[in-house]
Amino acid sequence: MAEGMIIKALSGFYYVKSEDKVYQCRGRGVFRNQNITPLVGDYVEFDKSGQGEGYIMKIKSRTNELVRPPIANINQAILVSSAHSPSFSPNLLDRFLVLIEAKHVDPVIFITKVDKLNDSERLEIENYKKVYETIGYRVELLSTKDPNYFPDIKEYFTGNVTVIAGQSGVGKSSLINALDPSLLLDTAEISKSLGRGKHTTRHVELVELNGGLVADTPGFSSLDFSEIEAEDLADCFPEMRERKSSCKFRGCLHHKEPKCAVKDAVANEEIEHFRYEHYVNFLEEIQSRKPRY
Ligand code: GDP
Ligand code: ZN
Repeated sequence: MAEGMIIKALSGFYYVKSEDKVYQCRGRGVFRNQNITPLVGDYVEFDKSGQGEGYIMKIKSRTNELVRPPIANINQAILVSSAHSPSFSPNLLDRFLVLIEAKHVDPVIFITKVDKLNDSERLEIENYKKVYETIGYRVELLSTKDPNYFPDIKEYFTGNVTVIAGQSGVGKSSLINALDPSLLLDTAEISKSLGRGKHTTRHVELVELNGGLVADTPGFSSLDFSEIEAEDLADCFPEMRERKSSCKFRGCLHHKEPKCAVKDAVANEEIEHFRYEHYVNFLEEIQSRKPRY
């Protein structure tokens, strides 16, 4: 039995990359009893049947699964924010980070359009960079318009299955184009310029980039916290996650409870105030949502 990864699903076929070849496979076999539909990103076992064709027999268990776009087993999310137009939003960045952490995906933060900053704005962005680096995140400041601000970022892709996330207009497709012009990120921008959707039905494809795979459709497009429970939210903030064992109460939500190590750390300025503020905002958002039946 051969093994590989589904890199594209289209019209009833699954395209499985195995070693250096792509096999056009149909879904037939035991996974029908597994009661799951194959997803792009799935590791599968398949039977070869003729030249470059096969049948998927088994889907291996997934480490994670995104809904929009439908994709499994990503291990890295490159989160693109812009420093300018649209202006840098720590709130939006933290929202994306929470959603990425909740899926147990490794985030990397790219802040684009730094060519548009004046000196004081640049200092402010560099300060944010330090804040997020102190938390433990990797942060790159870059510009696709000015080669002075284009660090070597290709290596982030090597060996990873990456999804690129970020609001519209921050420079995701410009970035991909700067890395490899033959890959076109499927964005709303592109669809608009064509005057129609690039694809009639939205599909996702994993494309190769510098020894890794990257999804051609931006991820984490839904920014609500409907899949996150209040008691899991602090685990999506690394600086809170590492302190929670010192809180007096098990299951402390670090909000109204006394003797809370997280609140102490905020008071001591070991945790950034704005990060804690976002935590509380998100917590209240989760707590106020209607129960799901
Ligand atoms: P996407 O929607 O995230 O894919 O964003 P795009 O890549 O389409 O970029 C949106 C706009 O920002 C376009 O007009 C780009 O030319 C511009 N842009 C993207 N990156 C940069 C950058 O680093 N510097 C400047 N000045 N403009 C940029
Ligand atoms: Zn606490």
